[in-house]
Amino acid sequence: MRIVYADNNATTQIAPEVYQAMIPLLTEEYFNPSSMYDPARTVADMMADARERIARHLGADSPRRLLFTSCATESNNTAIRGTAEATPNRRHIVTTAVEHPAVLEVCKYLQRLGYEVTFLPVDGDGQLAMGDYVRALRPDTLLVTIIHANNETGVIFPVAELARIAKETDPAIVFHTDATQSVGKIPIDLEVDYRHVDLLSFSGHKFHGPKGVGALYVRRGTRCRPLMIGGHQEEGRRAGTENVPGIVAMAKALDLCMENHDEQEAHIRRLRTRLEKTLQERIPCVQVNGRGAPRMPGTLNISCHFVEGEGMLFELSNNGICASSGSACTSGSLDPSHVLMAMEVPFSAVHGSIRFSFSRYNTEEDVDKIIEVLPLIVANLRKISPYWDDEKNEPGADADKIIGKIPTQTGP
Ligand code: PLP
Repeated sequence: MRIVYADNNATTQIAPEVYQAMIPLLTEEYFNPSSMYDPARTVADMMADARERIARHLGADSPRRLLFTSCATESNNTAIRGTAEATPNRRHIVTTAVEHPAVLEVCKYLQRLGYEVTFLPVDGDGQLAMGDYVRALRPDTLLVTIIHANNETGVIFPVAELARIAKETDPAIVFHTDATQSVGKIPIDLEVDYRHVDLLSFSGHKFHGPKGVGALYVRRGTRCRPLMIGGHQEEGRRAGTENVPGIVAMAKALDLCMENHDEQEAHIRRLRTRLEKTLQERIPCVQVNGRGAPRMPGTLNISCHFVEGEGMLFELSNNGICASSGSACTSGSLDPSHVLMAMEVPFSAVHGSIRFSFSRYNTEEDVDKIIEVLPLIVANLRKISPYWDDEKNEPGADADKIIGKIPTQTGP
């Protein structure tokens, strides 16, 4: 059976060119980049070149601003915990209710250590209210950490603007963004539009690089203590022998994303738009989560009222279609998504959410297959739902009107 891979926000396939770029470093160029002999210098030079190219793609003023990590989770931990440790006299953090667990759980950890954390709410489209944000900034605010593009809904937060506001309020506030879903997809220029962002996290496997490599951008002068202590690698900011094959591969992957970025984006957006439109036409009582907000071109998060997301995923998988409900890290748990809960998605829909996410390798045939299969899956699952009746079963039926009386489920 042909596999339709529509879960690119969880991870992506390695581009063939990226794989080729890695091979020499996995075979003959195996030397430790910190060693003093000549062959190791070649490896160190390849790493320096990769750092230089990644820095250039992000518009950083110097390659020295980038430190390599093992993943975005490590980058986020370093950014948040490292900032807290570097400035112990400030104890307030501002974040949002819709962060990835790699930020949310770190903030909750600091909360348990006595930090005050403001978790900003979002509206029904997943957007922040600027007024809430401005009011949340305090004289003792240490750090603002806000996701750039949401991994579940694709909703994009205006981080350039949010960072500017933070700095205008108090230049001592450190601004971090988790850009794991946006690097390689949204052009970022750290010396122009994003010049108020101090720390930015990402990892290679979200844009056709390998797993096990990530990076943290640290603006010049930003105080951030290392998480990993030991050797002097990364100028003492992250101990541990660098994953040079991964780093070189991540640079190649980013080169490929930026080379014909507009073309790739248009292709991905076309696939998402057709899928979104057709599913809305063919499935009664379906809602598109985040529809009213700026969204990543390749992410589609829908809720089919009165259907379990897990049931849909299982049936999709039986048909060779890989999609996801919630984030990769929380799938496997039956808890409803904290992102959709924060958006106050109705109770009847929050469990029936499913996320499709596309990459440049997806095709129109992939979309055809999902369109062929999903409406039938939903119709079959609804037959066994005690809450569903045929009165609702009209294409384009408006879930809000039909189920308006069902109470909204709010988070803890
Ligand atoms: N942040 C966001 C927004 C993500 O989507 C992910 C992965 O899904 C992560 C962080 C964690 O990334 P990694 O697997 O590289 O640790």
